[in-house]
Amino acid sequence: MINTWNGEKVELKISSDGFCYCPVCGEKAINEQWRPYDENGHPSYDICNCGFEYGFDDSGEPPYEKSWENYREKWLNGKADVGFGKKMSMDEKLVQLKNLEL
Ligand SMILES: [Zn+2]
Repeated sequence: MINTWNGEKVELKISSDGFCYCPVCGEKAINEQWRPYDENGHPSYDICNCGFEYGFDDSGEPPYEKSWENYREKWLNGKADVGFGKKMSMDEKLVQLKNLEL
C-alpha cells in the first residue's frame, strides 16, 4: 500500500512469496525488497523491462492520471520504447499481465 501526495491510496500487487510485480506490465521483481515506490509514494527511478521508469513516465506520482494504464496500452501494442528491455510476444505479455489480476 502506498500513500500518494493527494491522499489517494494505491495498492501494489505482491506475489504470495513476497515479490512485487511491476504495476504496469506485471513482471515479477528479481529481489524481494524491491518496490517501484516507497510507502510515501516516492518513486525508485528504476526502469522496468517494459520501459516504464517510475518517477518519470508517471510524471513523478504513482499512478499519475492513469499513467500505468496508458503506458501498459502502449507496451501491449509494441509502441513503448523498451530499448534494452526484452522483446516479448503479445501472448507472453498477456500471460505476464495475469500477475496483476486486473
Ligand atoms: Zn514493467
